[in-house]
Amino acid sequence: METVREGGVVVRVPEQPEHGAGEAVFFNPEQELNRDVTVAVLRAFRERKRAETYLDATTATGIRGVRAAADGWDVTCLDVDAEAVELARANFRANDLRGAVRHRDANVELHRNRYDVVDVDPFGSPVPFADAAVRGARKLLCVTATDTAPLCGAHFRAGIRRYGAVPRNTEYHAEMGLRVLLSAMARTAARYDVGVTPLLSHATRHYVRTYLELDGGAGVADAAVDELGFVHHCQDCLHREHEAGLLSHPPERCPACGGERVVTAGPIWLGAIREREFVAATADALDAEMGTADAAGKLLATLEAELDEPTHYDQHRLSKQWSRAAGPIDEFLDALRSAGFDASRTHYGGTTFKTDATVSAVRDATSG
Ligand SMILES: [Zn+2]
Repeated sequence: METVREGGVVVRVPEQPEHGAGEAVFFNPEQELNRDVTVAVLRAFRERKRAETYLDATTATGIRGVRAAADGWDVTCLDVDAEAVELARANFRANDLRGAVRHRDANVELHRNRYDVVDVDPFGSPVPFADAAVRGARKLLCVTATDTAPLCGAHFRAGIRRYGAVPRNTEYHAEMGLRVLLSAMARTAARYDVGVTPLLSHATRHYVRTYLELDGGAGVADAAVDELGFVHHCQDCLHREHEAGLLSHPPERCPACGGERVVTAGPIWLGAIREREFVAATADALDAEMGTADAAGKLLATLEAELDEPTHYDQHRLSKQWSRAAGPIDEFLDALRSAGFDASRTHYGGTTFKTDATVSAVRDATSG
C-alpha cells in the first residue's frame, strides 16, 4: 500500500503494476486532473441547481467519493469487488468522513435509488452503465470513457458496436471520440425522454470526460437529438462538411478538391461540448489545494475560449499537407483573424485550432 495525498484528503491505494490493470484495486494517478476538475464542476453545479447526493458508481479506492464527501456532498460509493469496498470504507474512515460504500453493481443500485449527481468513471467503456445512469441521475451525469480506440475509429468495428455510430480515424481523433461519446449518451437519454446539455467536456491524454445536465421531457430530448449529425471528411485535402440530422447524404466527390476519398462519420454530436459560463464558473471553483490547479486552469481557459465548430484542424498536419514550414500558432491564427475569420486554439493539442474558414480559405489566409 502507498499513501496518496490529493486535494486535501489522504487515501491508501495498492501499489499498481507497471503495465495493465493487474489484480490490485485500480488507482490511476494520471487522473488527478480529472478528479480536480470534477470537484470544481460539482462546486459550480451546486451554485446552478440545488444538489446534495452524489453517487460514485465505480469507486475502486474510493478517492473520488472521499473527495466529494470532503466537499460536503452526501456520498454513496459502489464497487463489485469486495476488496475495493473494504479499501474505500477504510479511506472514508481515515479521513473522518461519512459515506455509504456498498458492495453492489451500479446497474442494480441505479434501478433502486436515484441521485442528484451520478458519476460513471469505469476502467474502459461507460456503455454498460449508460442506461441505468441516465435513469438514476436526477440532475447531472458525469461520464468518463477510456476506450479511446473504439471511440475515435482506431478500432472501427468495436466503435460501431459499442456506440452505435460510425467513427473515423482522422487527425482530430480525440474530438471524434468525444463527439461519438456525446452522441451515444444523447441517444441513450432520449430513449427515456431525457435531454442532455453538455456543461463541460474534455479529451485529455487517454480518456474523454463529459458532464451532462439532464432535463426530463420529450421536447428537451428532441432538442438534444437535433444536435446530432455527420461529418463528411476528405482524406485528400482535409476539407470537411458537417450535416445536421439523422439522415446522411455523403457527397460523391469532395466539394473542395473533387477527390473521391470522402469518408463519413456519425451520428456524432455536432453541438457545443460545453457552456462557456459554466466553464468559467468551474475555473473559479478550482483551489490552490488541488495538485493540478495550474494545469486544470489552463485547460479550462482554453476550453472556454474554444470555438463551437464541430471539428478542429491541426496546424502541423496542414503545413505538411501544403509543404510549408509551420510558424508559431498564434501568428497563424492572427493571419486568419486578419482575413476576417474567427479562430481559436483548442484543448486537443498545442498545434490544434478551430475556425469558421474552410481548408482552402485557411490555406489562402495563412500563405503569408
Ligand atoms: Zn478534398
